[in-house]
Amino acid sequence: MDEATMTDRTVVRQLRGIPANDGAGVRLTRIIGSPELPDLDPFLLLDEFRSDQPGDYIAGFPDHPHRGFETVTYLLAGRMRHRDNKGHAGLLSPGSVQWMTAGRGIVHSEMPEQEDGLLWGFQLWINLPASAKMTAPRYQEIGPSEIPELTLCPGVRARLVAGALTGARAPIEAAATEPLYLDLHLEAGARATIPVPAKHAAFAYVYDGVAEIAGSEIGRSTLAVLGTGDGVRLGSKKEGARLLLIAGKPLHEPIARYGPFVMNSEAELHQAFGDYQAGRL
Ligand code: FE
Repeated sequence: MDEATMTDRTVVRQLRGIPANDGAGVRLTRIIGSPELPDLDPFLLLDEFRSDQPGDYIAGFPDHPHRGFETVTYLLAGRMRHRDNKGHAGLLSPGSVQWMTAGRGIVHSEMPEQEDGLLWGFQLWINLPASAKMTAPRYQEIGPSEIPELTLCPGVRARLVAGALTGARAPIEAAATEPLYLDLHLEAGARATIPVPAKHAAFAYVYDGVAEIAGSEIGRSTLAVLGTGDGVRLGSKKEGARLLLIAGKPLHEPIARYGPFVMNSEAELHQAFGDYQAGRL
């Protein structure tokens, strides 16, 4: 689509994450999935973990279950080892993504594989529609060199973690919500308009520097919820910016969630607990 014919999305809400503690004692910032923003259909949770203090992350996320949604871990710095009860194991390195479709259920661990230094990354939870909640579990692991890196215009680079942009397509398959997941790097003074599918819910999260999003100045550690439209205008003035731009197809279904289970009804949640306790995940 021609930039001139795009309808710009505006920033309809700005908020900062809240400090949270999860796993066996990992300190993180919860951006989506907090009392202030319980979800942004189809997104259920966005956490940023960023610390060079081992005490903040070393305990990791020992064995825990999931059912009914997808978890997406995107790492900027550090290393994380995962293992699950279906025989999968892998190591996430900087710039890689792990896309885990829990479906009907898995039990897994996510542990930092380092004893010092910076661990920095994001975990996003994406809901699955009722028709896919009980699908077979699946892992997609994409290394740093397999993620397309695009120069959109001078000073604007995008890592295409999921979805399609300017003719390029990410290797991740996520048919249920057709997500677009971009890691954008803007140099000082750069600007670009990024196409975003019109029917998708969308947000941007600035994780470094200061960005201009649809004319609003958005600082580091701030989430910008975007309104409707098929493109978003981005820029950066003095210091440059790095941000995630994420969009997905809303499901418009009832959400019943408790901890690591996200279903459509209380009865399905009880079933999930029962299945987990009986060792059926
Ligand atoms: Fe997990």
